[in-house]
Amino acid sequence: QAKSLGRNTYSFFTKEMNDMILRRLEIEGRLHGALERNEFEVYYQPKVNVRGGCIVGAEALLRWLDPMLGSVGPDEFIPIAESTGLIIPIGKYVIEQSLQFLALWENDHRRDYTMAVNLSPCQFRDGGLISFVKKALNDANVSAERLEFEITEGVLMVGKAYVDNALAELYKLGVKLSMDDFGTGYSSLSYLRKYEFDLLKIDRSFVNGITLNKEDRDLVKATIAMAHSLNLLVVAEGVETVEQLSLLDELGCDIAQGYYFSKPIPARKMIDFQISKITDK
Ligand code: C2E
Ligand code: MG
Ligand code: MG
Ligand code: MG
Repeated sequence: QAKSLGRNTYSFFTKEMNDMILRRLEIEGRLHGALERNEFEVYYQPKVNVRGGCIVGAEALLRWLDPMLGSVGPDEFIPIAESTGLIIPIGKYVIEQSLQFLALWENDHRRDYTMAVNLSPCQFRDGGLISFVKKALNDANVSAERLEFEITEGVLMVGKAYVDNALAELYKLGVKLSMDDFGTGYSSLSYLRKYEFDLLKIDRSFVNGITLNKEDRDLVKATIAMAHSLNLLVVAEGVETVEQLSLLDELGCDIAQGYYFSKPIPARKMIDFQISKITDK
């Protein structure tokens, strides 16, 4: 009995492992030509001023539609792009596209929107990052302070000199730095002390909890106070309900982002996007 159970468990495990490895290999194989085949599209999710209820900018979120695999989410393909080094050209594509969109968007609405782009750890290892960013800003005719790089502490945990150098260079350039998924890692606080951040993004898991329990509400409140004392703007991610939004307003949160306003949408929709929901105070 025990033996057959053990064997079943074993074969179940290998089947799962097999599927995972096959899927990974499949994605990796398709990912290699995806850029050339034009299968990526940058989507944008609006960021909204909590007080004023107007759009202040957007976050660029990459989408991949492969003809054979269908649509694959960034949570699945970004780690593979990172481990294969493909994130370097893909990341450059995202920076280029989103800055060109920002220039268009600004012209259309005459507003000082910002664009937030996610950066992976390995993009710092590419010595060409800074000069590429400079050129992309120049080509799009966008000033550096309109661009925000969202970094999770995974980048910083690397603790390598090239990371420190790249961050210092970006800071000198005038690009804004944003700490993504704040609260999910182990030592976000010490990184806030060490590096020059401009924004702090409270992770969606805390935002989700603020209307449900006092612990998350108190944590978010303390995080906002701490961030403000360090002169950081606070962004809440994953805002899905009006209740969350009003509570974030009460707690002094500056910027909100989430399905309540909009899912990430393609450029042609973002251009016309208007905020139709505001807190009813
Ligand atoms: P992230 O940077 O923390 O992005 C926020 C994620 O939360 C996005 O998932 C977004 O679609 C989702 N989201 C936004 N509002 C809500 C909401 O109200 N409710 C819920 N449930 N989810 C919400 P997405 O687009 O699937 O991206 C996942 C992650 O993949 C990102 O997390 C980011 O770490 C990474 N990623 C996406 N695009 C890029 C990219 O161009 N470069 C790099 N390096 N990473 C990227
Ligand atoms: Mg992000
Ligand atoms: Mg995030
Ligand atoms: Mg994330």
